[in-house]
Amino acid sequence: MNKRSAYAGLFFYNPFMISIYDTDALEELRRRNAVQPHRMKLFRTALFKKGMGWDEAVATLPEGARADFSSHVEFEVLELAERHDSEIDGASKLIFKTTDEHLIESVILRPATGRTSLCISSQVGCACDCSFCATGKMGFTRNLTTDEILDQVTQAGRIVKPEGRSIRNVVFMGMGEPLLNLGNLFPALEFLRATPFFNYAGSRLMVSTVGIPPAMVRFTEQFSDVQLALSLHSARQEVRERLMPQARTYSLNMLRESLLDASRNGKVMIEYLMLAGVNDGEADLCALEDYLCDIPVHINIIPFNEYAGCNLQGTPEAERRAFADRLKAAGYDTTLRYSLGADISAACGQLVQHRGRG
Ligand code: SAH
Repeated sequence: MNKRSAYAGLFFYNPFMISIYDTDALEELRRRNAVQPHRMKLFRTALFKKGMGWDEAVATLPEGARADFSSHVEFEVLELAERHDSEIDGASKLIFKTTDEHLIESVILRPATGRTSLCISSQVGCACDCSFCATGKMGFTRNLTTDEILDQVTQAGRIVKPEGRSIRNVVFMGMGEPLLNLGNLFPALEFLRATPFFNYAGSRLMVSTVGIPPAMVRFTEQFSDVQLALSLHSARQEVRERLMPQARTYSLNMLRESLLDASRNGKVMIEYLMLAGVNDGEADLCALEDYLCDIPVHINIIPFNEYAGCNLQGTPEAERRAFADRLKAAGYDTTLRYSLGADISAACGQLVQHRGRG
């Protein structure tokens, strides 16, 4: 399992440095220093499971190996550029700078239930250009490497550790479309699941997609235990096309096949963002009920998070509730969601590279 990701060689690969996510190279370093496997395990546990800093983690190694590890292992690929903590709820937005100076965002969510979640990015920008999403307005810059995806989790773990917390769930709902970055997403998911590393159960990981059927099929085959969320937002072809340009390539009919396929591994999450006068009417509700009939799903009704320059309006809460109640009455597992992090622009669809946009 070599975790050195595809982009690493292009711009910032230093042949003398080993990434902490490059398992083969780390094994070589272990052998060179004759570190016993159980000491290496302590080191990995400190880094990936306990959220310890570099000095503390290195202290778990035999004294003779510490210098070699410290001078050859690259601990962080992202630089934490800014941190914004919400004053109304437990959200923190982390803005990271990549080595080639792009900004990406992750969000720590601390809901009242006490289960800390982390929302991470998979790309710099996004090519999907959904009409309701701020990230889409940036356009697409590049895929994040496996290391950059994983480093968001490692660094967030260290941030919450002094609070007595750990990251319980990781969701790919930040910037970008994860299923358009399979080459780096899959190794990252393997690393997150692997027992010697983060050791997350698949049920604690969730990948959210605009709906790319060929990629959904591959994902379902390889990660049958990892949760899948589909950003549906409309079950009417013409409405969905207006909201999400990808729907022109992958129709609702095509999507239904892969949805059925994915739901054999467990319920798929359906994300349904409610926009006033766009997808919240009677015809929209009927289309949704028809489309999802006989597919095991859990529907999340989500409020629209506004951002500067958007000209869409969210459906008022009472109407969202009525919509959700109708779905429940029709037998669908449905949850009415509320946003966290709205005051720091950390809610879904508000993540955007603010600086350097001219
Ligand atoms: N590209 C993936 C993951 C990133 S978006 C996807 O589309 O699923 C994560 C979620 O936020 C998606 O369900 C998306 O539709 C939703 N979202 C985007 N913009 C939003 C906004 N302005 N308000 C509320 N949710 C939004």
